[in-house]
Amino acid sequence: MLEKVLIANRGEIALRILRACKELNIKTVAVHSKVDADLKHVMLADQSICIGPNPSAQSYLNIPAIISAMEVTGATAVHPGYGFLAENADFAEQVENSGFVFIGPTADCIRIMGDKVAAIKAMKSAGVPTVPGSDGPLDDDPAALRAMGKKIGYPVIIKAASGGGGRGMRIVENEEALVNSVAITKSEAEAAFGDGTVYMEKFLQNPRHVEVQVLSDGQGHAIHLGDRDCSLQRRHQKVLEEAPAPGIPEEARQAVFESCTQACIEIGYRGAGTFEFLYEDGGFYFIEMNTRVQVEHPVSEMITGIDIVKEQLSIASGRPLSFTQKDVIFRGHSFECRINAEDPVTFMPQPGTITSYHAPGGNGVRVDSHIYNGYRVPPNYDSLIGKIITYGRDRNSALSRMRNALDEMMIDGIKTNIELHQDLVRDSEFQKGGVNIHYLEKKLGL
Ligand code: ADP
Repeated sequence: MLEKVLIANRGEIALRILRACKELNIKTVAVHSKVDADLKHVMLADQSICIGPNPSAQSYLNIPAIISAMEVTGATAVHPGYGFLAENADFAEQVENSGFVFIGPTADCIRIMGDKVAAIKAMKSAGVPTVPGSDGPLDDDPAALRAMGKKIGYPVIIKAASGGGGRGMRIVENEEALVNSVAITKSEAEAAFGDGTVYMEKFLQNPRHVEVQVLSDGQGHAIHLGDRDCSLQRRHQKVLEEAPAPGIPEEARQAVFESCTQACIEIGYRGAGTFEFLYEDGGFYFIEMNTRVQVEHPVSEMITGIDIVKEQLSIASGRPLSFTQKDVIFRGHSFECRINAEDPVTFMPQPGTITSYHAPGGNGVRVDSHIYNGYRVPPNYDSLIGKIITYGRDRNSALSRMRNALDEMMIDGIKTNIELHQDLVRDSEFQKGGVNIHYLEKKLGL
């Protein structure tokens, strides 16, 4: 197993990683910015080290500082968590070139999946269903663009190959707007990502967001941990997730699971990963692969009993997967509510001091959070302060536990989105299951 892991992240995921390391008797190193010295995992780690001032660019994104911290502390591996450097191929490469283990896929794999055109190409050739589209970058020839738009059928969406976080996309309703829209998206992509490559896809009108969790050892074995529905989103940010995705025909699910594990083997994928799909009218359409642990990974853990972070650590230590698909038993249902420190009306982040905190508990209730009484939520980073995860033998019991858990949770001193969740888990359409990606914004009147 790995000897000493440096956790290159903060907040709830840093604590989540620390817990997994401790269970496996792996020593831990926490790195933090100045304002983050009082983070829970920093207090609990075997060693901690301040790597820079508060702006992420000078601390959590500072590759030389993190590699120096590994050298100074004798860490042998680094877990990047999610966000920050988790999908930065140069970071993975520099870590490995410095003789350390990067807990994640190879730099090459990260690079391919970071380029959406390359990712779609790789997925298509591995048999993963993709959105009908241009199958590659668009050039400027207006006649060729129009022919492509006609073939795919309007509306279409123009997307930047290097886009991310919901940026670098433009919907085109008809042929008149096409050529101009392609030109604008290109120049915006060039300015935002330093890469003007764009491609075209059919725009699906009312899809759901359904994703597949995989574990692959890079040694020829890959398994899936089922699907998750993350359709409840605001501005492309997930708000509430569940596993399994409700109401999807079993045959379609099994076929997509099979294609994902097959793709992992074909691309030599190593680690935990997520295939994200849009799902509409019984069809799955690949949009991207995330080459890291995700915020919503706990719902898959709850229904399989498998600890995804511990598996990441095991795979990174060079061990082959110790179980097969047959050993993965799916049982029950799970929900996750992301708790953000934000204004419930404006959705603006609300930093401040937590004056009083009570976490919910009881059978089937899990809280992944780094906050505590007196903790000061800094203004410098994203507003996620924790996650409530519930489990039940069926969807209704998991949902009723979530209602109770939300009602029980008490966070004083800062504003949070708990009320939004309380409203959502009582929403009659959501209770039925299977709402699409526009549902939350429509409900909020956006
Ligand atoms: P990002 O990397 O920026 O998150 P994605 O490719 O994952 O980009 O797309 C983000 C979101 O944009 C999707 O979750 C979906 O809401 C919307 N989207 C992307 N492609 C399509 C499409 N072809 N049809 C409809 N909506 C799309």
